[in-house]
Amino acid sequence: PFDMLIVGGGPAGASAAIYAARKGIRTGLLANEFGGQVMETLTIENIIGTPKTEGPKFMAEVKQHVEEYEVDLISGEIATGIHNDGIVTIDLENGGQLQSKAVVLATGAHWRNLNIPGEAEFKNKGVAYCPHCDGPLFAGKDVAVVGGGNSGIEAALDLAGICNHVYVLEFLPTLKADKILQERLLELTNVTIILNAQTTSINGTDRVESLSYRQRETGVEEIISVAGAFILIGLQPNTKWLEDTAVTLNERGEIVTASDGATNVSGIFAAGDCTDSRYKQIIIAMGSGATAALGAFDYLIRQGSK
Ligand code: FAD
Repeated sequence: PFDMLIVGGGPAGASAAIYAARKGIRTGLLANEFGGQVMETLTIENIIGTPKTEGPKFMAEVKQHVEEYEVDLISGEIATGIHNDGIVTIDLENGGQLQSKAVVLATGAHWRNLNIPGEAEFKNKGVAYCPHCDGPLFAGKDVAVVGGGNSGIEAALDLAGICNHVYVLEFLPTLKADKILQERLLELTNVTIILNAQTTSINGTDRVESLSYRQRETGVEEIISVAGAFILIGLQPNTKWLEDTAVTLNERGEIVTASDGATNVSGIFAAGDCTDSRYKQIIIAMGSGATAALGAFDYLIRQGSK
């Protein structure tokens, strides 16, 4: 068996693998696909010390860094179950199993899509999912935020300080965000809230130029000129496969972790976007990957396994 097996090959998993391997223990990294969400990102400008890079380039460098250590990279495999009966066993979709004394779960998350025309086509060309990441790219421009929950309204408040005008589109007749966020939003003069609006398409030639929506009450189609559309209708952790296991998830499906990355199950740790960490960013995922690997190493020492 492995001493430490990491499930997930995004920033959190890569960071955990490097921290584990540097302890000289037998380390494995299992990933459906190495790279994670960062592979979908074009420009990244908030990795401290790397002023500007691109997602695939950055993750190729991260992979190279992992490969400098003795890490067994197991790609193209999907974990479907986990339990600890003295040793942690991971079930694989292909019917196989992997065993490890400690495991770090770093399976990440994915943004819910609207699945409307133009959304996929203009990804990284005006369609965005993360205001912390892409907000500054739209400085002085008009943008739309789709989604009136907490993440949508937080994004609108954030973007209103950077952009010229922000349109918030909510499908339902009311915003779902906390009252305090709604109050702050209403104070702003460069925000328009459009309720009962079903976003129907994102339009443009090379980049986003406008967004179409249908007024659900009247059925009237409207179009607004925007350079960007932030889709904030929910970040879903990749934890469905843990629902029938002993690992505790919160109401959002995120893995509940302690300050050392420990889950409620001994020997099982977690890091990155699949956890209840408050913010979801590359640098944060990498930090929590390091934390979980160190937490898991401490666990191994205390078990006398190391
Ligand atoms: P992920 O990157 O999601 O990686 C998860 C890994 O787990 C993948 O390797 C996946 O294949 C694997 N996996 C999942 N389920 C299983 C399973 N059952 N079995 C095996 N493997 C599995 N953040 C920034 O800091 N700056 C940015 O500019 C930025 N831009 C972004 C742009 C976009 C379009 C998106 C979607 C996100 C962006 N983010 C950005 C957020 C950032 O990408 C994430 O916070 C970060 O990737 C989280 O890392 P992670 O390792 O926790 O998870």
